[in-house]
Amino acid sequence: MIQLVKGTKDIYGAEVKAWQEIEGKMRNLCETFGIGEIRTPAFEFTELFIRGVGETTDIVQKEMYTFTDDGDRSLTLRPEGTAGVARAYIEHGMHNQPQPTKLYYISPTFRCENTQAGRQRQFHQFGVEMLGSYSAAQDAEAISVAAALLEEMGVKGVELRINSLGCPACRAKYNKTLREFIGENLDKLCPTCKERFEKNPLRVLDCKEEGCQAVIAHAPSVLDCLDEECTAHFAQVQAILRENGIPFTVDPKIVRGLDYYTRTVFEFVSDGLTVCGGGRYDNLVEECGGKPTGAVGFGLGIERLMMILEKQNGAIEETAQRDVYIGSMGEAGLLKAQALTFALRKGGIKADCDTVERSVKAQMKYANKIGAKYSVILGDSELESGKVELKEMESGEQTEVALEQLEAVLREKCK
Ligand code: ATP
Ligand code: MG
Repeated sequence: MIQLVKGTKDIYGAEVKAWQEIEGKMRNLCETFGIGEIRTPAFEFTELFIRGVGETTDIVQKEMYTFTDDGDRSLTLRPEGTAGVARAYIEHGMHNQPQPTKLYYISPTFRCENTQAGRQRQFHQFGVEMLGSYSAAQDAEAISVAAALLEEMGVKGVELRINSLGCPACRAKYNKTLREFIGENLDKLCPTCKERFEKNPLRVLDCKEEGCQAVIAHAPSVLDCLDEECTAHFAQVQAILRENGIPFTVDPKIVRGLDYYTRTVFEFVSDGLTVCGGGRYDNLVEECGGKPTGAVGFGLGIERLMMILEKQNGAIEETAQRDVYIGSMGEAGLLKAQALTFALRKGGIKADCDTVERSVKAQMKYANKIGAKYSVILGDSELESGKVELKEMESGEQTEVALEQLEAVLREKCK
């Protein structure tokens, strides 16, 4: 037997219902916020992610599913959603439309990671990207989408942490300060961080190794390296969040795992797991070949959100619900049952009939199992007499109905 690939999952049954519900909420919320959907391809030229996400990030260094096509081009399955959206924004001249351009996606995302709780190789992200503004109001608006969603989903105990990495000049200044600090503690760091330290010291702050965490706890704060403008921008983001009643804490250790972030970065954390991460990325569009464009966005892991919800509310239960089961006996009865089922379904009624040649007794058992509210049996005698017994499943109560009235009666009852 061929099994599914490690780190992937089938979503079906009660679980897929929960997914549809969450996706529905995401779509409705985006509608309210004036955010339109975008569906970008599942794969892009590898170059896009190298340039966009950054050569020294974990994603590019070890997590991408990269392959060569028959034209010898290097392609990569989307390991995150922002780079593809930035590419589409440039390619379709979206900057010519009134700004901001606000887009969302719900897409499978692929990262070749060690599988463990909360970490898959194909997972799903709900992402929001807002392009065409440098204003702190845009940062706050992006954060408020995620906050509103988590609130609407009834997620308890999520914490919003925010930070600012400043503009490239501030970042260069901080990199220098940080490199000096790390240099003094190099012997206490993991081998990966020893490598990271030269090329991209910020990555060390993102390391999950305990030894590195202990060192990082004493690292200088990026907030002390911000210039006046970046400090003011960050203060304004905080002021708007406060005004909107969105609680947060400032955490100068948050850097996020992608290189494109500038100024504001943020995370929503629950039980030590990041459910949502994002920030401002003012250089990405230019990096990808477009005009300088201020932008901010986030990615929210749907599996992580599900995990948290299940932990807080218990496992999702299957709730079968059918309006009516049209049972049958004999060939003529089956024909009539199928025609009636088809007619009812066209009217939006959840009707079912026998398609596996069950006995009448087994059909009734099945009607119970699928949660039918009503059932009826069409056999030769019913067709002859023109009368049927309509059964209300829960009470067991039966009512005689004229066969020619049955469709109309069911339509009325199952409205
Ligand atoms: P982490 O620090 O947990 O590795 P990340 O920095 O890699 O997260 P992002 O790249 O910002 O995360 O992705 C956004 C969100 O996508 C995360 O907050 C998380 O909810 C989800 N996510 C990331 N990687 C995975 C994965 N391998 N499996 C499931 N969900 C994931
Ligand atoms: Mg990661």
